Amino acid sequence: MKLSFKNLELSLEYPFGIASYTRTSHPIVSISITQNGMVGYGEASMAKYLGETQESVGNFLKKVDLSNFCAQNSIESIMTYVEELAPNNTAAKTAIDIALHDLRGKLLGVPCYQFVQADPKNMPVTSLTIGIDNLDMIRKKVRGAAGFKALKIKLGSHQDKEIINTVREETEVPLYIDANQGWTDKHEALEMIHWLAEKGTEFIEQPMDRNNRDDNAWITAHSPIPIIADEAMQRLSDLENLKGLYHGINIKLMKCTGLLEASKIISSARALDLKIMVGCMSETSCGIMAGAAIAPLCDWADLDGPWLITNNPFEKPMLVDGKIQLKNQAGLGLTLL
Ligand code: MG
Repeated sequence: MKLSFKNLELSLEYPFGIASYTRTSHPIVSISITQNGMVGYGEASMAKYLGETQESVGNFLKKVDLSNFCAQNSIESIMTYVEELAPNNTAAKTAIDIALHDLRGKLLGVPCYQFVQADPKNMPVTSLTIGIDNLDMIRKKVRGAAGFKALKIKLGSHQDKEIINTVREETEVPLYIDANQGWTDKHEALEMIHWLAEKGTEFIEQPMDRNNRDDNAWITAHSPIPIIADEAMQRLSDLENLKGLYHGINIKLMKCTGLLEASKIISSARALDLKIMVGCMSETSCGIMAGAAIAPLCDWADLDGPWLITNNPFEKPMLVDGKIQLKNQAGLGLTLL
């Protein structure tokens, strides 16, 4: 097997604001792994709070030597080798995991969702994320979200209620709320959550700082709707520490090193009776179709990357009734434009 990679700057359709920052583009690293003339695609999209950059991903990928591996080796054995090269570097590792699954699927003529025993019939709707912005732009973005049956709204600004009221003037679809650790007072947060529940909110992601275990647990104990860990939940090993702190978790492939570990997280989380959502970073159709492969195993999906960028190198996933369609196509089913 041979690995190659290149940097790519994703252009965002709108400046993207969350509780802690705003950005207009997002760096990723696109990779391909080839064998027998077949190409598997993967990508690394780095979360700011996890400390990876294009440079760190490049440095990690330079250490990866796949020349001794071939299709006969299991993805698990290759990922064990990759994991042992260095700690952290989760997005870099995810890029390899995704490309290996795409390649394996193409070599065997099998769609990737079959590797994780996901049934496309159970696909949840995917939300489209509305970042923090001025109210005119919020209105414009909501009007542009036709076709989506749920919206994820970023809060943690100085005008959270005005944002929700503006959204509700435009649409009645269910709302998923992401505070991105932006709320600082548990009593105010709980009051807000009650208000949001009345406005048709299904769940809240990461209300307070991920290190503030007590206040997040207190909110979970009192909330009328599920509280979901995002920043607090990265790898399988984190699950144990989240018991009793949240009602559920947000799995993102870029945090957990890919499909292999994600499917283990799903099994363990179900055993702990946790709700599960699958989310994403700024990603092309490549990362998103990998997330979509496990989405039927989850309660909620927030896989909107391709709808928020303007230079996707692949065809956009197909959306029917607000659900990403998993095609009966080998690998991830990607088509390069
Ligand atoms: Mg989140």
